[in-house]
Amino acid sequence: MTELILSDRAARIGLAPNAAAKARAQALAASGRTVIELTSGEPDFDTPDWIKQAAIAALAAGETKYTAQAGTLELRTAISEKLARENGLAYPAAQIIACGGGKHVIYNAFAATLRSGDEVIVPAPYWQSFPAMVSINDGTPVTLPTLREAGYKITPAQLDAAITARTRWLILNTPSNPSGAVYTTDELTALADVLRRYPHVWVLLDEIYEHIRFDDESRTHLLTLAPDLADRTLIVNGASKPFAMTGWRIGYGAGPAALIGAMTIVQSQSTSAPSSVSQAALAAALRGDQSFVRRSVAAYRERRDLLLDGLRGIDGLQCAAPQGAFFVFVDCSALIGATTPDGKLLLGNTDFVDYLLFGHGLAVVDGTSFGLPGHFRLSFVADRDAIIEGVRRLAAAVAALSRDTANTRAPRAETTEAAS
Ligand code: PMP
Repeated sequence: MTELILSDRAARIGLAPNAAAKARAQALAASGRTVIELTSGEPDFDTPDWIKQAAIAALAAGETKYTAQAGTLELRTAISEKLARENGLAYPAAQIIACGGGKHVIYNAFAATLRSGDEVIVPAPYWQSFPAMVSINDGTPVTLPTLREAGYKITPAQLDAAITARTRWLILNTPSNPSGAVYTTDELTALADVLRRYPHVWVLLDEIYEHIRFDDESRTHLLTLAPDLADRTLIVNGASKPFAMTGWRIGYGAGPAALIGAMTIVQSQSTSAPSSVSQAALAAALRGDQSFVRRSVAAYRERRDLLLDGLRGIDGLQCAAPQGAFFVFVDCSALIGATTPDGKLLLGNTDFVDYLLFGHGLAVVDGTSFGLPGHFRLSFVADRDAIIEGVRRLAAAVAALSRDTANTRAPRAETTEAAS
């Protein structure tokens, strides 16, 4: 067989961990086991019918051709209106690009700006595609681990200490996947104060979970608090999470015209503009009735509370209540060093996650995949029964551990994989 030689850039990355966790769970299920999967990273609702109808109408009207490389003017105008209406920000269409998902916005931004060895600060726990997209574009991800006690948020001092002359970007993802952390107005103000001292550092503000929030507080946008940062900030958002449109592959970025222009060139020479039909659907979604978003957030909140209630009763696990997104990030470090009923010593979070899957039929994603070992991520995008059964299995798994040795032995040094 002819050997496949990977490019240097492809060799630096691997399959996204939740895809890998899902694949393992499905392999186990195929062998006849019942597996509860709390790994999902996408809404389980269908796209609202009126958004589908807008797509059908676009097809019927012949919107089946290439569009402008940065997206149709209609969509970019709808995005501009959304940013003004919901965020109080003024972005003309020339400062907006539509891409094939929020992920693609980020990819285009790094492809357009990173030079070999440029550093990108990635607070951990992180969405694993952040460091992977830095690496594939020749950058160097600089991980900033956060603490549960700090709500999994970086502090101004941490940011200050991490910035070097090679730092190009800081990634801020609020609400965060996987921790659900939301930066407060005061915290954003304090980070902005640090950033002001380093005018060479740009901010990639990933707001994809903007609407999936449980804290009921009104939040001031970073760029309202610090409008002077607008000329070096890229806002990333999309249709996937608010409108349950993950399969439509449509997202957008808003930023300085020069950056948007450079990203448009990258896009024009790689994928071209996103699907004309998805663009029409997103324009309709942004302009239409937003009650679907409110209803789905209310459903996520109920499931979050159900999961948190169950977790509270499990001795040995600790977590902060997520303020947004649809995950709970659980600290299981107290269980490292415990022994399973069949005599296996848990040397790290990946051993614990394997034990949950193979011992108790519960699939979750390990913290190492998010750059913060000693944890795992539970998704509450699952039906009530799955959450209840998942919590029951988790409690049974923890109760069955022998913990005389827990945390008394040095856990195996768990590396944070840049990509897996
Ligand atoms: N940012 C974060 C933090 C995410 O979790 C995701 C999806 N998992 C995305 C961006 C991208 O979503 P999409 O490409 O579907 O818009």
